[in-house]
Amino acid sequence: MKMTGIAFDNTYARDLVGFYVPCQPEPAPDPTLVYFNHELADELALGLDDLEPPALAELFSGNRLPEGATPIAQAYAGHQFGQFSPQLGDGRALLIGEVIDRLNRRRDIAFKGSGKTPFSRRGDGKAAIGPMLREVLIGEAMHALGIPTTRALAVVATGERVYRDRSLPGATLTRIADSHLRVGTFQFFATHGSIEQLTTLAEYTIARHDPELVGAPDRYLNFLQRVAERQAALVAQWMHVGFIHGVMNTDNMSLAGETIDYGPCAFMDAYDPGTVFSSIDDMGRYAYDQQARIARWNLARFAETLLPLLADDEQQAIELATGVIDAFPARYQHHWLEGARAKLGLRGQIDDGERIDTALAQDWLTLLQAKKVDFTLAWRRLADAAAGDEGPLRALFTEHQTLDDWLARWQARCAAEADSPGPRAEHMRRVNPWLIPRNHRVEEALDAATQAGDLAPFEQLLEALRLPFEERPAFARYAEPAPADFTQAFRTFCGT
Ligand code: AMP
Ligand code: MG
Repeated sequence: MKMTGIAFDNTYARDLVGFYVPCQPEPAPDPTLVYFNHELADELALGLDDLEPPALAELFSGNRLPEGATPIAQAYAGHQFGQFSPQLGDGRALLIGEVIDRLNRRRDIAFKGSGKTPFSRRGDGKAAIGPMLREVLIGEAMHALGIPTTRALAVVATGERVYRDRSLPGATLTRIADSHLRVGTFQFFATHGSIEQLTTLAEYTIARHDPELVGAPDRYLNFLQRVAERQAALVAQWMHVGFIHGVMNTDNMSLAGETIDYGPCAFMDAYDPGTVFSSIDDMGRYAYDQQARIARWNLARFAETLLPLLADDEQQAIELATGVIDAFPARYQHHWLEGARAKLGLRGQIDDGERIDTALAQDWLTLLQAKKVDFTLAWRRLADAAAGDEGPLRALFTEHQTLDDWLARWQARCAAEADSPGPRAEHMRRVNPWLIPRNHRVEEALDAATQAGDLAPFEQLLEALRLPFEERPAFARYAEPAPADFTQAFRTFCGT
């Protein structure tokens, strides 16, 4: 079997010796390819077109690493639910290398579930097929929704059983990321490392994600600002599709501003800002409406790691960092309002627009919450209302007076816009998805794959999620919210 040459350029392994441990994947006894993203492989210019599924399975199980791969387990620390763990690290993941994609971007190729590493602690280093296919579905949905995210390139069933609360088929996922640098990476070296290591890490990260700042005198402060800005924009995007990450620990917050680590995440149906699905999030720390607050908290932990680099005088460093952290809520609010305006079909500015549009958006959400209306469908049907068809929107409500009052305000606001109703509805349909990964559909697809080895439901759902802004009647079953009793009982799980 011929193995093609992936053009690796592994800067992390080369430039950051001492920041990782070299480590080989454990062999998979009987690898079978269950998912391969050809479009993404093409974007990465991997040159794997000639490989048949069995060869891809060998490659992406880690059984036959491509030439030039330098598998490493990265060191990181992290605050998990507010508690600091000084050593986490890749316990079931390996960075196998980096490539330059067709758009000249550096991308990480990493395995998840490929076996034990020096960071595994008591874990087995493995993954079950269900959670790996879940990462494919949610990650690809996020990508199609236009939200920065890591993506799944491949899933290979290993032919081995893994043991959780029961015995499950094992799998390895190949994850593509702008990088795997996290807040926790800096926390590890701020805790255990020398100032030289911290500087090396900061310079590496700046060169990789904010190359315009290389060599600039105030680069560390600007870098902190850029990381904060990316998070503000990202969390605002999550909020506008009803996404709950579920485990926003500092080791799960990417410095590249991508959504990373699809564990207990889920999308909500009926709008309720307090929504929590994660089985271990008893206190609602990572509830839907806490996400901006938690991002800020995580950024404060990140800023602490940078203090020695920000100024020689500690007090001055703290003041500089505090300035960025304190500015975060306003930056988040800016991105949130921009997104809300687009969802409302408002593109122009009016006098006092910030106050008026914020109130309009907030009151709409309050209305959805009070009437327990499906978040995604309500926004989508508001686009129909923009086009003059209020029927589908009204059908989502059992009482219409408050809706009509709000609609009258919204229509008055729309009248101040240059857009006419047709184009407004079109713009709204480009930002208000018809489809999100509905929890009951995701579970149905994963159950079929796990229990019967039947991948058809997974493949159909994935096909639906690839075009979330298009209303395609053939996929109507994926647009429906879950029955209320399903949602009531629905719990998601971490680290499985
Ligand atoms: P996560 O909740 O996926 O962000 O993982 C938190 C930490 O637990 C990371 O250090 C992971 O590498 C580690 N971890 C999660 N699952 C496993 C596993 N099955 N075996 C070993 N380490 C794991
Ligand atoms: Mg993680």
